[in-house]
Amino acid sequence: MTQSSLFATYARADLKFEKGEGAWLTTQDNRRFLDFAAGIAVNSLGHAHPHLVDALKAQAEKLWHVSNLYDIPGQQRLGERLCAATFADKVFFTNSGAEALECAVKTARRYHYGKGNVDKTTIITFDGAFHGRTLAMIAAGGQEKYLEGFGEKAPGFVNLPAPDIDLVKSAVGETTAAILIEPIQGEGGIREIAPSFLQALRSLCDELDILLIYDEVQTGVGRTGYLFAHQEYGIEPDIMAIAKGIGGGFPMGACMAREEVAQAMVPGTHGSTYGGNPLAMAVGNAVLDVVLEEGFLERVRDISLVLKQRLAEIRDAHSDILTEIRGRGLLLGLKLTVPPAELLAACRGEGLLAVPAGDNVLRLAPPLIIGQEEIDFAMNSLDKALAKVSANQKDNH
Ligand SMILES: *Cc1c(COP(=O)(O)O)cnc(C)c1O
Repeated sequence: MTQSSLFATYARADLKFEKGEGAWLTTQDNRRFLDFAAGIAVNSLGHAHPHLVDALKAQAEKLWHVSNLYDIPGQQRLGERLCAATFADKVFFTNSGAEALECAVKTARRYHYGKGNVDKTTIITFDGAFHGRTLAMIAAGGQEKYLEGFGEKAPGFVNLPAPDIDLVKSAVGETTAAILIEPIQGEGGIREIAPSFLQALRSLCDELDILLIYDEVQTGVGRTGYLFAHQEYGIEPDIMAIAKGIGGGFPMGACMAREEVAQAMVPGTHGSTYGGNPLAMAVGNAVLDVVLEEGFLERVRDISLVLKQRLAEIRDAHSDILTEIRGRGLLLGLKLTVPPAELLAACRGEGLLAVPAGDNVLRLAPPLIIGQEEIDFAMNSLDKALAKVSANQKDNH
């Protein structure tokens, strides 16, 4: 390793990408990789999508930043479109997923405060959750490895060991403000939450005036073949955090809420210097232009079926290493008998990029625009990589 001026917070692979086109990346030394990680579910439309490039260039030549001291027409437009397509009536724009969740938690607490319930501040979350890396969100996620060494855990978060409605019922009380959950745990290992559990949460929340918050930072914006994952089941939240895919690679996020909930966030209660700036809004609107196009999400669902079928065949052929295929749409997990880093290294050797997740899972999150050519290449690479890992296993025993 060469000396670096950077914080050593990331275990970086020795790959330097210079250029991207669609689902493909090229390194400085001209090696080509198929990107089935998509910046961890960020590059929803792949790299250098012409419509996004045009939108960003056009905005860059007009206006970059003005501050939320002024009306920003792109915010109005993107806000209206996100609301029209979802349960939400109001939107607050942020720069990242963690910030969208911070806003979600603040909004939930302020809703109860506005109703005179000043003690309703506790947020219930679940084991394996990931909600970002701010001090509050590492408390929300509850994972010891992210909390260690950073002082007192932020108060007001209770992490339950499993998505079990009896556990939730015994945990809720006078101080419960909200329940926060990812419809599919991404970092946690592509762990799907049963619709019946979400329904049970919805009913409990309605009964006790507790707010239901979805973290769709990873699952949102077409990733599961629906605009938002929960829309497949029709079980709606009161507040939702989004980010990643909505910017297609431009840093942005949003907190969305029902009118009755959002109205607690009166002038002065929250703010962001960059949140919703004209550049981000131009790109966010351009992403929606494509994702909301007639037939786009249907195509994601169709290509997902093709990919899952091929993955099932590969699992059958390599069941010593690959035991289960998980997930929905184009957010898929390969449950392994070896550390995911091992298979990932072998995949990279075959020109395929993926990303590890918890629970011994290798995650596939390709751009939503992949076609048959990409699937063929990815499955061929994966097949070879699994064979290599399997051979290594046998050598070692
Ligand atoms: C990535 C992610 C976050 C955090 O987003 P950042 O933009 O890194 O702050 C939060 N929740 C989920 C589910 C995520 O996947």
